[in-house]
Amino acid sequence: METIKYVLDETRMPTAWYNIQADLPTPLPTTLHPGTGQPIGPQDLAPLFPMALIMQEVSQERMIDIPEEVQTIYRQWRPTPLFRARRLEQALDTPAKIYYKYEGVSPAGSHKPNTAIPQAYYNKQEGVKRLATETGAGQWGSSLAMACALFAIQCDVYMVRVSYDQKPYRRALIETYGARVVASPSEETHAGRAILAESPDSRGSLGIAISEAVEIAAQDVDTRYALGSVLNHVLLHQTIIGQETMTQLEMAGDYPDIIVGCTGGGSNFAGIAFPFIGAKLRGEQDVRVLAVEPAACPSLTRGKYAYDFGDTAHLTPLVKMHTLGNTFVPPGFHSGGLRYHGMAPLVSHLLELEQIEAASIQQLDAFGAGVEFARCEGILPAPEANHAVAGAINEALRCKEEGVSRTILFNLCGHGHFDMQAYTDYFAGTLQNYEYPAEEIAMALAGLPSVE
Ligand SMILES: *Cc1c(COP(=O)(O)O)cnc(C)c1O
Repeated sequence: METIKYVLDETRMPTAWYNIQADLPTPLPTTLHPGTGQPIGPQDLAPLFPMALIMQEVSQERMIDIPEEVQTIYRQWRPTPLFRARRLEQALDTPAKIYYKYEGVSPAGSHKPNTAIPQAYYNKQEGVKRLATETGAGQWGSSLAMACALFAIQCDVYMVRVSYDQKPYRRALIETYGARVVASPSEETHAGRAILAESPDSRGSLGIAISEAVEIAAQDVDTRYALGSVLNHVLLHQTIIGQETMTQLEMAGDYPDIIVGCTGGGSNFAGIAFPFIGAKLRGEQDVRVLAVEPAACPSLTRGKYAYDFGDTAHLTPLVKMHTLGNTFVPPGFHSGGLRYHGMAPLVSHLLELEQIEAASIQQLDAFGAGVEFARCEGILPAPEANHAVAGAINEALRCKEEGVSRTILFNLCGHGHFDMQAYTDYFAGTLQNYEYPAEEIAMALAGLPSVE
């Protein structure tokens, strides 16, 4: 039983991104100014982002052209392969068909360069000299550092303290690409100093690191800020994943009944699912879509759909999203990329509209699924991707129970070669399940800004 690979000729790579805002039955709630609570306009965001990205953020056009220069770089690893996981199907003894799109073939090893490249490109076009950003596990930091190296832009990466200490190899990769890495909270910003004054041993969080990077960008006219997930334009750039998959599934003569993705900020999930959800919203083809998140950071399944800040120091605009509260500091579980307090507004909106479903998975179940997958398919998934693998396996086992064949598609958003400590801990039996305590969630949510 062999794995089947669907390869697209690079002349068939999509040349435009798909913007789901064009097909939404009701528009996204407006974004609000952090100080005044009033709706913000494009000019308010200009200190942080280049105008081209701000316009994409609010665009209602269905298709947005991918610049030639970005396409050229994409072609180094795109189109990415789609696989049919025949050996996994056999091991599960399921009547289901399982397909996975593999984004780990990018130079940084995940889907994140799909947005890092256009973000660096548009900043370069508008004369920006330096980008400031945050990174948790280091996937985004390494992707943006690579993109900045290609476009000759300086890059400062505020890396969550706990990852900075525990993930020296991702840090080394970021530095290899020429970026500067700073452990966050740091002494370089107001936001960082304020946290350190209160808790000198702070392990940091994405919310804190975002505050630092935003502060740096807001202060310097030559510096802008870049975010690796959550925002509409980031999700937009990732839709190349789902569009390629549509063509590849046509080659296979198939269409998914179920699409599964893991969700941290929502970008790889949106990337694979939005083009298919678009077809559903336009009444062309139905599909079930499942977002899988860790039980230790359950923004979609246990968070509140409310206006919140994107960062801890309240420097970012207020967006309506599923949130655990901007003061949320996640426990030290092993999916660094899934530890953000909020969820993309577009993904949150689709959950409210009941266009997608959400489930949470415990860390040990996720790793169990990842190990089974590696032994069948040879590819070692990133810990984040293990949540999607587990979700897909659960659906395949349900098909077996119900005696029905369904086509399951999931996004294998990255490889786990930099996360071997997590696998080592899993095999040593030192990994534990962690359910975020209800009291802690209630406490963090009590601090939400009041917005009507
Ligand atoms: C960053 C990352 C994630 C989480 O981010 P999303 O925006 O939800 O995709 C998931 N998997 C991998 C491999 C990542 O690098």
